[in-house]
Amino acid sequence: MGEAGTVCDVLVVGAGPGGGNAALQCSRQGLSTILIEDHPEIGTPVHCGECISEIACQNLNLDLPDEVISKRVRGIRVIFPDGTEKCLTEEGYVLEKHLFERWIAEEAVAAGASLHLRHKLLSMERVEGDPFGGWICDGKGDQFPIRAKIVIDASGVAAVCSRLVKPDCDAPLNAKGKVVAGMQYELLEVPTDDYLDFYIWPKYAEKGYLWMIPKCEGRANVGLVTEDKPRTKKALDEFIADTHFSDLEQSLPPWKEKGSPAFGGTIPISGPFDRTHHDGLMLVGDAAGFTSPLFEGGSHLALKSAVFAAQTAAKAISEGDLSSERLSEYTRLWKAEFPPYDKILRGKTALFELSDDEMSVMATCFPDEMSDMGATGKAMVGFRLLLRRPGLYFKRIVPAMLAFGYSRAKYYGW
Ligand SMILES: Cc1cc2nc3c(=O)[nH]c(=O)nc-3n(C[C@H](O)[C@H](O)[C@H](O)COP(=O)(O)OP(=O)(O)OC[C@H]3O[C@@H](n4cnc5c(N)ncnc54)[C@H](O)[C@@H]3O)c2cc1C
Repeated sequence: MGEAGTVCDVLVVGAGPGGGNAALQCSRQGLSTILIEDHPEIGTPVHCGECISEIACQNLNLDLPDEVISKRVRGIRVIFPDGTEKCLTEEGYVLEKHLFERWIAEEAVAAGASLHLRHKLLSMERVEGDPFGGWICDGKGDQFPIRAKIVIDASGVAAVCSRLVKPDCDAPLNAKGKVVAGMQYELLEVPTDDYLDFYIWPKYAEKGYLWMIPKCEGRANVGLVTEDKPRTKKALDEFIADTHFSDLEQSLPPWKEKGSPAFGGTIPISGPFDRTHHDGLMLVGDAAGFTSPLFEGGSHLALKSAVFAAQTAAKAISEGDLSSERLSEYTRLWKAEFPPYDKILRGKTALFELSDDEMSVMATCFPDEMSDMGATGKAMVGFRLLLRRPGLYFKRIVPAMLAFGYSRAKYYGW
């Protein structure tokens, strides 16, 4: 270790799916890569419903090993307030997410990355001089200080580099975004036909939804996301008490030895941050605000943004140009491919402006299977709506319908 501490091409902050994959992809590109994780182990506490679509795995060339898959599922069933059910049949997986994250980190290490647990990034200083020459990063952990040409922030909702880097005097790189709270229990002997059940029931989950995500051996994650953060646990308990879940046994998830059976976290919902790159810095995954605005999933976008960041890092380092301008390629790449966030968000907002009754009327106009709702299908829905409730047709319901469409396979899976 020299004066400036440990030296590397890329420092990846956080070993969730985004960070693990960023370290893996950077190492595969031949970059000397350090992956740090604040926690003593990777993947726990789990803060995820643990599902990922087959489309996502294909898009990422992910060949999941059996031990990280808890269950193969057939798709999503959306259950509206009056109980109307509509299916989106697109296959996918429920993971043992902590094992999945460990697997990716192990792959990164096998590809040459060096992994350091119990390492928390606390400060970043620019290497002095012009042009920009990298970052000196400090924090808790014996590898610090770490000097890196490029930092990839994969710190999740903490978005640590957006706070630490202050390009405009005292103002941080990005202002703090909005988050929703998510919480779930593991229940046992849960009946399932291998669909993920998503309940759009505002009574319990205001501007959010509830889920039953089946796992192996009858286990399931039953949980919710809601904008009503203080009521999260109470609302989930009420939902369970009022439904067929009430008779089922709760258990601690396998990664948890003691404590409350509830587990969860927060999810960014403001959309991609204004600045996802800067001199020698790229933000990926939740740290960049990348989550699906409709169902709030973020693993696919975290994993994919990591691929774009690693590609950009490799080129920038080989050209010896670490500037913000060079790294803007990263922002161009994700913008060209990720789902149209604003359109989906407009749809979601329109959806939550509907009353329960209006939402249910809309649902009855959908075909039972929504996965192959092409242009004609959508026209049919519009037509049915016009017949059944003409007033609704004009009440911004079209964006709400399109939101379901945009989150479908051809745009990015569920
Ligand atoms: C209740 C709930 C259910 C969800 N369900 C789903 C789902 O079913 N499917 C889906 O796709 N998405 C789901 N999500 C979202 C998904 O979990 C996230 O989008 C995804 O994990 C983001 O990955 P990431 O790598 O960006 O961040 P994270 O997984 O949050 O990883 C960030 C890592 O960085 C570490 N870290 C933070 N600060 C520092 C620091 N200063 N120094 C070092 N390390 C640091 C953290 O400890 C953490 O390990 C859910 C989220 C919640 C809360």
